[in-house]
Amino acid sequence: MARIVVVGAGVGGLATAARLAATGHEVTVFEQAGTVGGKLGRYVHDTPAGAFHFDTGPSLLTLPEVFHDLFEATGAKLDEYLDLTPLDPIVRHVFPGGGPALDSCADPAEFAGRVGAAFGDRAAADWQRLWRRAARVWGASQRDILRRPIDSPLDLAALAWRLGDLAAIAPGRTLRGLGRRHLADSRLRMLLDRYATYTGADPRRAPAALVAVPYAELAFGGWYLRGGLGTLADALLTRCLDLGVVVQTGTAVTRIDAAGGRAHGVRLAGVAAPVPADVVVANVDALTLYRDLLPSPRRLAGLTDRSLAGFVLLLGVAGESGLAHHNVFFPRDYDAEFDAVFGHPGRGVRARPASDPTVFVTVADDPAVRPAGHEAWFVLVNAPRHGTATGAVDWRRPGLADAYADRVLDVLAERGVDVRDRLVFREVRTPADLDAATGTPGGAIYGTAGGLLRPANRGPAAGLWLVGGSGHPGGGLPMVTLSAQIVADAIGPAWE
Ligand SMILES: Cc1cc2nc3c(=O)[nH]c(=O)nc-3n(C[C@H](O)[C@H](O)[C@H](O)COP(=O)(O)OP(=O)(O)OC[C@H]3O[C@@H](n4cnc5c(N)ncnc54)[C@H](O)[C@@H]3O)c2cc1C
Repeated sequence: MARIVVVGAGVGGLATAARLAATGHEVTVFEQAGTVGGKLGRYVHDTPAGAFHFDTGPSLLTLPEVFHDLFEATGAKLDEYLDLTPLDPIVRHVFPGGGPALDSCADPAEFAGRVGAAFGDRAAADWQRLWRRAARVWGASQRDILRRPIDSPLDLAALAWRLGDLAAIAPGRTLRGLGRRHLADSRLRMLLDRYATYTGADPRRAPAALVAVPYAELAFGGWYLRGGLGTLADALLTRCLDLGVVVQTGTAVTRIDAAGGRAHGVRLAGVAAPVPADVVVANVDALTLYRDLLPSPRRLAGLTDRSLAGFVLLLGVAGESGLAHHNVFFPRDYDAEFDAVFGHPGRGVRARPASDPTVFVTVADDPAVRPAGHEAWFVLVNAPRHGTATGAVDWRRPGLADAYADRVLDVLAERGVDVRDRLVFREVRTPADLDAATGTPGGAIYGTAGGLLRPANRGPAAGLWLVGGSGHPGGGLPMVTLSAQIVADAIGPAWE
């Protein structure tokens, strides 16, 4: 049995802790915030009409099998803890210039039919051709990348990809390039481009292999958890506690001790005595790990290409809107949005909030999250990360957050959804707020932006592991949960 310390109680940290405890280890989790869940955050706003409950982070659960596997591995059944509700549409896509909306769903033939009905037979045939290719990429990445550690470019190169897999993965091609090649309809290209943002990237630079992301969503479905996605954090915490994990919130780790090339334990803020451990699992962003907790210049050097962040509005809305659960309102000029959000640091062009951004609106049809006759809206816009560098925006600048919130509501009104006179309240969450709440540097949601080779799970010292969305295999709830599986498997059970 090893004494294991997990730094951070995000989904990755809790999932690793539960898996390790289930295999006989003694596990302690230290979480700097007052609650668990990390980016899987929640907010409750009380009003005379009743309470509005919001998820402040994830709103869409994909790859449910990954979560079934996790609960199974810890000796439990997911359905006893969570109420998974399939969504149809998964996302309603509303394109610029009027015209039909496109509702995505988990039945590929039905979706192709919807594409045909909205944009014509040619578009449907294009989509089906792209879909076949996406299936091949999914198969290869699921087999070779998502469930095993990748430590270096050599590991990637050494994968036994068949020639067909390699052609499908198209190393060197971008997601934008793939869309251009397969999809004649500009609206379908926009739909494909958006999946780059699931890994924090610009589609013009993201690898074509990210076509596996829409495949996973549209082949295995998109799900809501009744009561809110935050119920996943509750369930993971309960699993951990039932398995004997000690979870200490309000406790920041300030350093990882790794003299002599082996992890020995951690230091806690305001506590003089070190906490000894045989193994340390860091669920913090790789940048926090290699800059602050265990300064590692070599590892730090690879972390400069930062992911985008999110600007969030939490709205209490009177009345009913008739919106789908998830709605995306695309802009006229998608590239202008990416130019704004990332800037061009190499050319000295500063990042800035996009004036005409894509707006993502989630409205759960769930009486548990809003008073009768009202809706709780989660509105998300891609945003530059917080900071003072050329590729960032200082979201603390007085007046900026409120002015941008007004702008986002105006943009929604321009796209036909005007809630400005139905607001009961509005709350704003900037990338700076995410940074402060979860220790995510700059609020860059996915750490680095989008490549296949992300920071490795194996740390620079023996017994030190990195788990979570900034590392391999990537961000998003299922990927983070897979990273927990990779790390727990690598550490092995206590009885080995
Ligand atoms: C607005 C938004 C929308 C999103 N939408 C989706 C979605 O729809 N679907 C989806 O699948 N994913 C979505 N994601 C991504 C998903 O939330 C993340 O990828 C995932 O939750 C990250 O989990 P993690 O394990 O990496 O840990 P994190 O959530 O980053 O948690 C890390 C934890 O470590 C703690 N910590 C940090 N530093 C220290 C320290 N020094 N000592 C102790 N503790 C520390 C933090 O407080 C935090 O609790 C979204 C994210 C955001 C922000």
